[in-house]
Amino acid sequence: MKTSKFTPGRYCLAVKRSRTGRGLFALEPIPKGACIIEYTGRTITDEEWLKSRSRYLFKVTKKKTIDGWDKANMARYINHSCRPNCEIDIHKARVFVMAKRAIKPGEELAYSYGEEYFEQILKPIGCKCLKCVPEKARRRSR
Ligand SMILES: [Zn+2]
Repeated sequence: MKTSKFTPGRYCLAVKRSRTGRGLFALEPIPKGACIIEYTGRTITDEEWLKSRSRYLFKVTKKKTIDGWDKANMARYINHSCRPNCEIDIHKARVFVMAKRAIKPGEELAYSYGEEYFEQILKPIGCKCLKCVPEKARRRSR
């Protein structure tokens, strides 16, 4: 198979406990700009999209949405961050998680879920990402 910018490099990743439940962590260094993982799932139609209550939806084209609910989709464990180390790239109606900067082993992967998600879901409950609740502040409050 031909490789491209969008061929996920087989980086060692693991689902581990994080501050907000579970998260996806890098177990080895990942260079800036690398394609880390594809966000996979079932393609659903607009009608299904309107009825869906999945929290793992990605609109990839006007007519196509990917529902990444399936546990086989490891990328679903990636949490939101207001200062993320990953970013989403939608390419040919597929969703890829790319390294926004160099990532060190042991770092949790995160990307910004977007303003709409932040306003509707995270703001009311309070965002717990590293930028909003720094590790030091958390330790002090215990
Ligand atoms: Zn935040």
